[in-house]
Amino acid sequence: MKAATFQGVHEVKVLEVPKPSIHSPDEALLKVTLGAICGSDLHAYHGRIPMVAGELLGHEFVGVIQEVGPAVKRFKPGDRVVVSFYTACGHCALCRKGWFNECLNMATFGFGELLGGLGGGQAEYVVVPLADHSMELIPEGMSDEQAIFVGDILSTGMFAAERAEIHPGDVVAVIGAGPVGLMATMCAQLFGPARVLVVDMVESRLEIAQELGGTPINASLAHPVESIAGYTGGIGADSSIEAVGLTASVDTAIQCVRGGGTISVVGVPSEFTADFPYYHMWEKSLTFRSGRCNVQKYMRPLLDLIAAGRLKPDMIISHRMKLDQAEEAYRMFAAREATKIVLTP
Ligand code: NAD
Ligand code: ZN
Repeated sequence: MKAATFQGVHEVKVLEVPKPSIHSPDEALLKVTLGAICGSDLHAYHGRIPMVAGELLGHEFVGVIQEVGPAVKRFKPGDRVVVSFYTACGHCALCRKGWFNECLNMATFGFGELLGGLGGGQAEYVVVPLADHSMELIPEGMSDEQAIFVGDILSTGMFAAERAEIHPGDVVAVIGAGPVGLMATMCAQLFGPARVLVVDMVESRLEIAQELGGTPINASLAHPVESIAGYTGGIGADSSIEAVGLTASVDTAIQCVRGGGTISVVGVPSEFTADFPYYHMWEKSLTFRSGRCNVQKYMRPLLDLIAAGRLKPDMIISHRMKLDQAEEAYRMFAAREATKIVLTP
């Protein structure tokens, strides 16, 4: 089968690789019908997440089930499914507490051995282990493009917004208008804020934020913390969502909220440690939350919101390309020439 492979920093190649097959009773074999490139893939592309040459890429995908192992109870061949970007077992102590994102048996698609050795979704086929706890059925009449982001960036946007504790009438600041920031902007609106201020430097992305009801702030033209203060009578936003992953953007997310506010970080940190403003956090009674998205918790309700027409995540897709064009697609996405790219095998 064909698959996008990591070959080295800034080097992606579509190659012929062995088609995967089921080896354990809890697995499902999927024919991928659509894959996407995520900002997290860029961490591997830029060499921030170390991968071995030849490992398969892609963790945001939908497909049709070809075969299931005997222990899979919720799915059968022919079912169309969206897959979480990581697998969870559903029965460890932390899954039983609802923290699927902290599953003790977790593995992630598309990052090679380092993150659990699963296959990649930018490919023609992929095996999904722990299938019953890692996928959801796509409702009839819903397209692949509408469903695909439920497995990653839309869930992450919802996780970020829920953990920002947005109340009706609040002012929320979203730092970063990449795909994740745009999904967070979309989800934040479900909680009834008066205003969602969205910070980025890429004008085309800020335009989409504006279409989503956000107020754009171009950080290359204005100081974001000062602009946010300007919109809030000098006191700062009620809460902030960080959707970039740099220490500079986490810093903006902390500095832009008012006393008693909440900071919700979903960007994957680019550094293991950095300075943290402990006194400022105490002095302003701030709440700081961060983490990998609890995808399994949000997949079903998000599919229902899309089916009801209340969320339109597919509106951020800027480029539809073939899997064969993955090399060029990665270059374009990394250069921010594309907002979101989907790949058809
Ligand atoms: P992206 O790289 O396409 O978007 C990042 C955006 O941030 C870009 O538009 C960039 O211009 C902007 N930016 C850069 N520096 C900035 C700054 N200082 N202030 C404001 N904006 C700034 O990536 P994405 O797909 O949107 O993903 C964003 C982050 O979320 C990545 O770190 C990704 O790995 C992470 N992520 C986390 C989860 C999770 O489970 N927590 C899930 C998916 C993605
Ligand atoms: Zn991702």
